[in-house]
Amino acid sequence: MKITSVEIFQAKVESPTPGWFPVCVRVNTNEGVYGWGESGIPVMSGRDATMTMIKEIAPFILGMDPLENEVIWQKLFHGAYWSYGGGSIPFAAISAIDIALWDIKGKVANMPVYKLLGGKVNQKIKAYASQIQLGWGPISEPVVTPEQYAAEAKRAVADGFTAVKVDPLWTDDKGLCTNPQRVFRPNVSDWEWKKINTKHQLQVVSDRVGAIRDAVGDSVGIVIELHGMCDVNTAIQLGRELDQYGCLYYEEPSQSIDYRYTLELKKNVQTRVATGERIGSVWGFKQFIENRAIDVAQPDLGVVGGITEMKKTCDFANAYDVGIQMHCMAGPIACAATLQVEAAIPNFVYHECLQWNTLPVFTTIGKYDDMLLPQNGSFEVPERPGIGQELSEEAIAKSEIITVK
Ligand code: MG
Repeated sequence: MKITSVEIFQAKVESPTPGWFPVCVRVNTNEGVYGWGESGIPVMSGRDATMTMIKEIAPFILGMDPLENEVIWQKLFHGAYWSYGGGSIPFAAISAIDIALWDIKGKVANMPVYKLLGGKVNQKIKAYASQIQLGWGPISEPVVTPEQYAAEAKRAVADGFTAVKVDPLWTDDKGLCTNPQRVFRPNVSDWEWKKINTKHQLQVVSDRVGAIRDAVGDSVGIVIELHGMCDVNTAIQLGRELDQYGCLYYEEPSQSIDYRYTLELKKNVQTRVATGERIGSVWGFKQFIENRAIDVAQPDLGVVGGITEMKKTCDFANAYDVGIQMHCMAGPIACAATLQVEAAIPNFVYHECLQWNTLPVFTTIGKYDDMLLPQNGSFEVPERPGIGQELSEEAIAKSEIITVK
């Protein structure tokens, strides 16, 4: 079997969240079998760069045997040149192709990918409701008051989720966005979260998390997410305030560019520390894991380097007693592939389910909708051969497409 072409899609579908368009690939072969993959970069910046990166490295693998995923991974890694320095774009491009190769491998073997990875260590994939500060339900609007935070958490729990994730400083006390990565929004707060906070600011954040805890009780997990916004001192100050609520873990309290940041956090905050959605390759995670600077690693299948690199990262983390909660905010192909790997790893913690993952507009992007919605807070792993998902005809028709052959 030989690879004959690689098609790259940026699906310009109706976006379930502002500026979100999945970047996917289809790897075609001379035997008619094809595989689907997806990058982990659908939003913020880098979609066009990822498409171009895939276009530039795809010629390396034309004529190669798609079943030799490790051989191809090595060729892409060395051939991409910029991958030696880490960075999300080269690894997102490698990821998309690698996932497609595993889809082909599963189809040739006539079995789902989780079986190729060792079978279902986890029968069902429990999920948490992610980013509830944006609202949990059909309307995606940031919430502001503690009562609103509590109400959204209760809606998620009513849907069957056993944990929720919240960014309690997404907005200030007036509802203005504090996130510096969202400065393109017209209404931006003047709260400066890189600095030590005032007592008032700390109280606003604390009251929001406290309201969630009071609303859902002690049996529901709460993940605190800061999107890497704070410097270490501020994150420690905030973490110590929030320790009283017994949260599951503290995600990206500061930037993930240096493991010593999270190591210092871990030494000063009781709540477990997690990071990893922007980190490419097992080398990127190496210092975080071997220094035990995190308790939970959050690699994204479409950023870390695909299924080949994800499995290595999960096993490496397991040897250091570090759990895995894969970051998952791309489209249905990435979601299906993530479920396949989550089923097969012993250190699985939770699957990330965003509010927009449950909207009808999201389910129309995938060809199969039987695995897209959680039931009682858990997902079934797709049983179709391969990863079990592809772009729908509707999404393909709306895509910008580049073909390499
Ligand atoms: Mg995050």
